[in-house]
Amino acid sequence: MDHKRLLMTAAILFALPICMTAQDFDDCFENRTLRLDYVFTGNSSGQSIHLSEALSGGVWAGRRHSLDTVCLEGNGKIEVLEKGTGKVLYVNSFSTLFQEWLSEEEATKTDRSFENCFQVPWPRNPVDIRVSLMDIRGEVTASLTHPVDPADILIRPVPVPPSSFRYLLRNGSPAQCIDLAIVGDGYTAGEIEKFYADARRAVEALTAHEPFSTLKDRFNIVAVAAVSQESGVSIPHRGIWKKTLLKCHFDTFYSERYLTAGSMTAVYDALAAVPFEHILVLSNTPVYGGGGIYNAILTCSADHPTFPKVLVHEFGHSFAGLGDEYYYDDGFNPMYIPEKEPWEPNLTTLADFSSKWADMLPPDTPIPTPEDSIEKENDVRRIWNTIPEETRQRLNGHLGVYEGGGYLSKGVYRPVQECRMKINECKDFCPVCTRAIRRTVDFYTEKAE
Ligand SMILES: [Zn+2]
Repeated sequence: MDHKRLLMTAAILFALPICMTAQDFDDCFENRTLRLDYVFTGNSSGQSIHLSEALSGGVWAGRRHSLDTVCLEGNGKIEVLEKGTGKVLYVNSFSTLFQEWLSEEEATKTDRSFENCFQVPWPRNPVDIRVSLMDIRGEVTASLTHPVDPADILIRPVPVPPSSFRYLLRNGSPAQCIDLAIVGDGYTAGEIEKFYADARRAVEALTAHEPFSTLKDRFNIVAVAAVSQESGVSIPHRGIWKKTLLKCHFDTFYSERYLTAGSMTAVYDALAAVPFEHILVLSNTPVYGGGGIYNAILTCSADHPTFPKVLVHEFGHSFAGLGDEYYYDDGFNPMYIPEKEPWEPNLTTLADFSSKWADMLPPDTPIPTPEDSIEKENDVRRIWNTIPEETRQRLNGHLGVYEGGGYLSKGVYRPVQECRMKINECKDFCPVCTRAIRRTVDFYTEKAE
């Protein structure tokens, strides 16, 4: 009796939907997308998760292998669980703006709610969905488990908007490639060609950097022309508010340059016509800013001169889960604690350094590694263009365990002195970030390193 027939017989005998292994995509799932919209609410001392709506989308763009494994831990996860057994049929990890807000002082004074949308493959049978949020210790602080029956008549098809789209890079089917969707905010109907030109510049910027240049054949990139009522996006510190489709605005958590999309459901609605796994929102503005949240969203202003650099840095966050290698020590609450190893592949607290770049270190490297005199005595960012290429390469490529990173000058360590994830001036990712990006691409496309 072949494997599938045995499976069917078992299902009939026990009247339970059974998947023999979570690796068998076709046994458990259809080539279709289940979108789940949630509202995350609460404050710094307590959070909760509420299901807002289940929707039915187009073809499944995500992976069809390693379904019960995450690439990186992230700050939260969504799991599809087999009814009755609780076996994980699919899992994906993510981070959220909501959890960033929890470390802000405001979260000690008020409750807030944040929209979050996720996509999972369409289950063939009734399943349970579990959404969990973790704190900086990796402990679950909020969790919601709810049933989804794929035959439920209240699962609404996502309306496909009238917007047009163009593929800027196409290397295979959504099943084979990583699908990145670019959507614009603050582009009026008369600015659609500008949007496509900006999206092309985004693709050029991403694919100009290693390791993306050599890995670009693993990606599909589609630009979706969404139309906003007004041109430009909201800039609260200048008193400017615009009517735009995705409600992009600066001053997120009162940080001038922190640009985010105000409505995740609007972003997902705008992308309904295309298969996608990763999202890049281009804001039609020359004001400096951006933001990247792991497996959630990347937002970037399209017309600032540093656009290509900011974009690549933020893609490091949103796609590969890279942490910031800079530090300034003025955060309200630390995001990293000594006893917990960060899940970001390019930061360590030394709690479990063997899981990081210990295998890449030259023998006898001192931990922590002393900085070069040029790094110690200067604000390297300001003098980067004046220092010799050889020195730049050493600062970017000489691996160690340098103290300072993840917004903290003490207790968090980074792999090199200067990296694409530390300063905009440095063109290249460090060797640790490069390996992390390669591993992420391999994870999604199932190709060995
Ligand atoms: Zn790095």
